[in-house]
Amino acid sequence: MIKIGVLALQGAVREHIRAIEKTGASALEIKQVGQLKELDGLILPGGESTTMRRLMDSYGFTDAIRDLKREGKPIFGTCAGLILMASAIEGQADAHLGLMDMTVARNAFGRQVASFEAKLDVKHVGDAFQAVFIRAPYITEAAPDVEVLAVYQDRIVAAKQDNCLCTAFHPELTDDNRLIAYFAEMVEQSKKTLAS
Ligand code: GLN
Repeated sequence: MIKIGVLALQGAVREHIRAIEKTGASALEIKQVGQLKELDGLILPGGESTTMRRLMDSYGFTDAIRDLKREGKPIFGTCAGLILMASAIEGQADAHLGLMDMTVARNAFGRQVASFEAKLDVKHVGDAFQAVFIRAPYITEAAPDVEVLAVYQDRIVAAKQDNCLCTAFHPELTDDNRLIAYFAEMVEQSKKTLAS
């Protein structure tokens, strides 16, 4: 059985655990860096990216997560997790993990529409996906080998590059489990590849 971890320093952890379990994979809350080596894949949840970064640095996760990516293990960032994965952040001198070649804008849909839902067609995943946006970021620029998976009002809100997947919205908050199931498939495939 594949093991998928959810970084559990801060943010929307429990909902992801439930969503992972629904795919039949085993789900682990990751609180210590030593737990990463048990994993076949990792989810960086929504929450507050600046707080999460500070905690990641204090607990030694920042380099360890970069190593996980280098080993070929899939990583999925949702909302604040997407911000953590970007190589550049609008208006900030430094990015966080730099796992995907893309620039993001934070809280980018404005105050009036801080939270909303939309139905999106997500490439590889399916149509009419119920997407929940909460003070969501979006991707303002993506390198050519970043594959755009979903767009909302001309803004990129889901993307994939190698073993990294990200969404500006929260796929774990509804009963529509297709995105988590897609990530679990990525993890399953990579486990086979890494074992051969
Ligand atoms: N705006 C938050 C941040 O910058 C992300 C919001 C979320 O994860 N729901 O970290």
